[in-house]
Amino acid sequence: MTSPFDQGLALVRATADLLALDRRHPGQRLVERLAIPDKVVSFRASLQRDDGSVSVLLCHRVQHCDTLGPYKGGIRLHPSVDLDEVKALALAMTLKTALVEIPFGGAKGGIAVDPASLSRAELERLVRKYTSRLVNDIGPNSDIPAPDMGTGAREMAWIYDEYRKYNPVARAVVTGKPVGIGGSLGRTEATGRGVVCALLAAARRRGLSGYTVAIQGFGNVGAHAALDLAARGIRVVAVGDVAGAVHDPRGLDIPALVRHRDSTGAVAGFPGAEAIADPLTAPCDVLLPCALGGVITAANAEAIRASLVVEGANGPTTAEADAVLERRGVTVVPDILANAGGVVVSYFEWVQNREGFYWEEDEVNARMVRKLDKAFVQVAGMAEARGLSLRRAAYCLALERISQGMVARGAQ
Ligand code: GLU
Repeated sequence: MTSPFDQGLALVRATADLLALDRRHPGQRLVERLAIPDKVVSFRASLQRDDGSVSVLLCHRVQHCDTLGPYKGGIRLHPSVDLDEVKALALAMTLKTALVEIPFGGAKGGIAVDPASLSRAELERLVRKYTSRLVNDIGPNSDIPAPDMGTGAREMAWIYDEYRKYNPVARAVVTGKPVGIGGSLGRTEATGRGVVCALLAAARRRGLSGYTVAIQGFGNVGAHAALDLAARGIRVVAVGDVAGAVHDPRGLDIPALVRHRDSTGAVAGFPGAEAIADPLTAPCDVLLPCALGGVITAANAEAIRASLVVEGANGPTTAEADAVLERRGVTVVPDILANAGGVVVSYFEWVQNREGFYWEEDEVNARMVRKLDKAFVQVAGMAEARGLSLRRAAYCLALERISQGMVARGAQ
């Protein structure tokens, strides 16, 4: 199987052919410029454990492309983090920010570690060490980190505070902070809400009504998407996390499921629901993969029962699985559109930090929905006009904007 970065790049190459970039911009080598990130920083963090021992951890920050603005992207803490995956995620950020028209490029960071294996103090030491090593690379005008899997507002506060030791106060150095120290209202919920926004638009386009939803992943993205759906009266019939999955054809009581997860640590054992093996293949009309990448594969794509897949996670569908779903007539709303709500509200946070003027939550949400709806209409329009999948169309729009930026700026 090809690596995640190679898969992403293969899609970029195919899109460049569709857009005839070589013919339109001869000699500009636009795809080659995206094939090598602008800068890759990989380094060791020796972490002092509470018991006095030392753990040696591998850390990365990939600044992929800043053609359209400062690098932007989250920091992931997960045992499976490796450089290739971080590069793939950084490329996805370059495309995502271009697609939803926010003035950023793409980046991603990661540390190969299970945050659940660290105490709070160990985690704080690690995040501060990571930040101090990158203190000359990140900044409000150069590279702005944010939460990703395994990080949240607490970690962003430590990044902000550590950066502050070396620089003047700069709230806009990182987004996804706690609201009390410059975070935006609605940022925590934004990715999940954005997934629902994309789901609603895609369901309307397919003429679906009275549909049921299954969600894989019940972390920040999956749980907030579920809460939003439940508040709209849309039935969520299956939810799974790393430890197990639950199913109720009448619709799960999502606020109660969130409380159950908060008290037990997992969705399994939720009273009144039936245990199932895999939420990906649960009976439903709409599937939201909201956890790790590469979970929908050639091995399970035939077994997916949904007619609509909305990618809350980054890269949940392998290229082979994508081809199977397309052949089967399953609509896939691609990650760079479906989960862009998070980075859109990160942009709003950055704007609010720079202006020193803070918006009400309904204003944040309304502006996010406007941005995502606009991007969806553009993507769907392009898909229809050119007979493309939504993924291909999204890549076309994003790559066209990046290419125009590269040509306008010249060779950097
Ligand atoms: N980690 C999120 C993503 O993959 C958010 C990035 C950000 O807010 O900068 O889109």
